[in-house]
Amino acid sequence: MSVKSVIVIGAGAAGLAAAERLTGAGCAVTVLEASDRAGGRIRHLEGFADFPIELGAEEVHGLENCLVPLVESAGVELIRHETLHDYIRYDGKLISLESARAGEDLREAFEFVDTVSRFEGPAWTVEQCIVARHLPGHAWHYLDSRLGVEHGTTLDRLGMRGFAGYERNWQLREENYTVREPYVRLLDPLLDKVRDRIRYGATVARIEWGGPLAVVRLAGGEDLRADAVIFTGSVAVLRDAPPEFSPALPAEKREAITSIGMDGGMKIILKFDRRFWPEDMYFLHSDTFWPQFWTPGKGRKGKAHILTAFVSGTRADFLRQLEVDLVEFALGELDRIFGGRVASEHFEEAYVADWTTEPFVRGLYSFPLAHTEPRHREALAAALGGKLFFAGEATDLDGHSGTVHGAIESGRRAAGEVLAPS
Ligand SMILES: Cc1cc2nc3c(=O)[nH]c(=O)nc-3n(C[C@H](O)[C@H](O)[C@H](O)COP(=O)(O)OP(=O)(O)OC[C@H]3O[C@@H](n4cnc5c(N)ncnc54)[C@H](O)[C@@H]3O)c2cc1C
Repeated sequence: MSVKSVIVIGAGAAGLAAAERLTGAGCAVTVLEASDRAGGRIRHLEGFADFPIELGAEEVHGLENCLVPLVESAGVELIRHETLHDYIRYDGKLISLESARAGEDLREAFEFVDTVSRFEGPAWTVEQCIVARHLPGHAWHYLDSRLGVEHGTTLDRLGMRGFAGYERNWQLREENYTVREPYVRLLDPLLDKVRDRIRYGATVARIEWGGPLAVVRLAGGEDLRADAVIFTGSVAVLRDAPPEFSPALPAEKREAITSIGMDGGMKIILKFDRRFWPEDMYFLHSDTFWPQFWTPGKGRKGKAHILTAFVSGTRADFLRQLEVDLVEFALGELDRIFGGRVASEHFEEAYVADWTTEPFVRGLYSFPLAHTEPRHREALAAALGGKLFFAGEATDLDGHSGTVHGAIESGRRAAGEVLAPS
């Protein structure tokens, strides 16, 4: 077999996994990455606290996926937070998730989560289902954090059918682990094999996929030719700022791009001079406008008092439109939760990581809208003309979209398609 030349667009988890597999199979691989670093939506902040703080992916979901062999070869350590507890704040009370489970107030919310995988109703949003079941306001708030934020959106956007399918597929969801070292170290075993193939600051502006060779044009005007191209940019990039495709993408692909959700959102990292939250607190689901906070330093060596505040979907859009000072707003919410002006008074500094404004990501991660069907992800993943292939978390077909392991699997799948005899 003659050596196949392949251009991989994007050096995130999917792109690195594709490039590593293709390089191992003897292909001549070039990875084009628009930003100045590898990792994509895996990125951390150094120097802000006495431990690294994740700005993108933070958890490893379960021990039955493709990340586990990488954990071993990267020599990093996974931590399971068995001694930490999640808290819920509603009606002015702050109680542990365990106590809430034992009580009556949130019973309907827990029943909703436990039975969601059996849903077979109409193409509704999760919010429509909650309203139809007359769930009380505090149940809505808990579910918006527990389900809406977890899927990178809000309940008015998250599709019930797709979400139910996701729950059915995903056996691993309760077992979450964090990494003692920076999360990006998990990608080292892939990166080490392709480091010298990556061109940074290489923004792809146009992809011609109709001829005998694919032609990829960089923003500076340089043309590169290859037997095949794998595009791994997010579905929001394809929706809002795609490279020019020639020929244009077919109708099915365009429909898929607009039928899969990917919303904006941000993490605000807040540093305080002392802890004012319970020592065993991990996540805090709150009925304030800002739905979710957590303690990112657990298991990492360091003593700084840090909270991450996370908001996504319609709520994140709303805050952006209001043009409020996001840090002050988040501190105000914490004051309301913990009383007095405790957060504002003990605040030291903040860092805002707004993924919506990242030009080559444009949001958090993909999720099902009310009308999203499995065929949309299949169409998004489908190769075109034996030349143009698609990978990235949103193209995962096994219910693991929106994750790092889903992205890696998608990159390996696309590489397999390139290598398959035509
Ligand atoms: C805040 C946040 C928290 C998350 N938490 C978790 C978690 O706890 N656990 C988990 O498993 N997952 C989590 N995720 C999701 C996970 O990070 C993603 O699913 C995964 O990293 C996506 O990888 P990818 O390769 O598909 O896409 P990306 O990481 O987006 O990589 C695509 C790359 O393509 C590049 N690119 C795009 N367009 C072009 C172009 N025109 N030319 C050149 N390059 C281009 C981009 O710069 C980028 O580097 C989180 C994500 C975010 C944002």
